[in-house]
Amino acid sequence: MSAVELLAPWACHPAATRGRRHPEAPTPTRNDHQRDRDRIVHSSAFRRLVYKTQVFVNHEGDLFRTRLTHSLEVAQMGRSIARPLGLNEDLVEAICLAHDLGHTPFGHAGQDTLNDCMREWGGFEHNLQSLRVVDRLEERYPDFDGLNLTFETREGILKHCSQRNAQLLDAQEPGGVAARFLRGEQPGLEAQLANLADAIAYNAHDVDDGVRSGLITLEQLQTVPLFARHYQQVLHDHPHLHAPDHSRRLLYESIRRMLSAQVYDVIATTQAQLAATGVTTVDGVRQCGQRLVAFSADMHRQSQALKTFLLHQLYRHPQVMHTMGAAQQVVRELFAYYLEQPQAMKPRFAQRAARAADNQAALARVVADFVAGMTDRYAASEHQRLTGQTLLA
Ligand code: MG
Repeated sequence: MSAVELLAPWACHPAATRGRRHPEAPTPTRNDHQRDRDRIVHSSAFRRLVYKTQVFVNHEGDLFRTRLTHSLEVAQMGRSIARPLGLNEDLVEAICLAHDLGHTPFGHAGQDTLNDCMREWGGFEHNLQSLRVVDRLEERYPDFDGLNLTFETREGILKHCSQRNAQLLDAQEPGGVAARFLRGEQPGLEAQLANLADAIAYNAHDVDDGVRSGLITLEQLQTVPLFARHYQQVLHDHPHLHAPDHSRRLLYESIRRMLSAQVYDVIATTQAQLAATGVTTVDGVRQCGQRLVAFSADMHRQSQALKTFLLHQLYRHPQVMHTMGAAQQVVRELFAYYLEQPQAMKPRFAQRAARAADNQAALARVVADFVAGMTDRYAASEHQRLTGQTLLA
């Protein structure tokens, strides 16, 4: 039996896709959501994720997560939850792999700065930018811009959207991927799952990277119940891990158990919610007033506590903040430079800028697209070349 025949009635079945904006003939061996995933993997935006910051700027160490390895871990987490729920694994994988394609260099510091730079012209938001990458910025097909992904994948990529942006998007694509924000509807279960898989993955890998970097300690993590509970149980089950030279095994086994607990919690909670609401169709999922793929209330609290711990102890650690301060300056100065000198951008952006010359908002958007697409190291080296300053080395 193929994976598609095992799909539950509430899954987005590939044969029932709402389709692509530019109709294409089917292929004999892959369904539409498999094709979406493959298009994402082959995109240039996907390859650039390898040199984009998750928490640590790329040059800080070779073993830390980048946006690429983060995206792969999110996809792994998503698939392993999708299968027992009877969801469309290919679609979950496609959404997970694409979810950060619109991220700027230097993580959230880069996004916040670019949003500031674009304030007069509609702002910058990485979910919208991810959609822009797959809809417009990739240049891979003879007759259309973007990757021409299915509605369901695009819907999952547009995870958040303000009412104002939803109205703008809906004007361009009436009843399209932004309509649910205007109607107050939920996305499909695969999109809901990708969203949660992202949080599960980054909470876990940021504990790992944080400890390995020395910025957070196992002692500090004892204040986080979700981690401490598994950590104590691992020590109980494997007393030899008390030895300092086993600290790495102890950390990994604790993280592994923490991940498993969250995965089983999501599966059980989602099954219970599907049963309680009686939802059995994709339309039922969309109309349902609540998210059906979710943590239990208790696990939600524990996950939030870990997130808050990481925010205060890692993301706002003075060493991380120092690097991010420099990164913000790089993004701000690059944006200002290209807005003044659009012809200094790569040719395809310079050409778009030339066409937008009499429209400052359109010109600023071209500059934002160019800067957002940069990898950390390209942004740092361009900044150095253009300003003569070395801010990140
Ligand atoms: Mg992410």
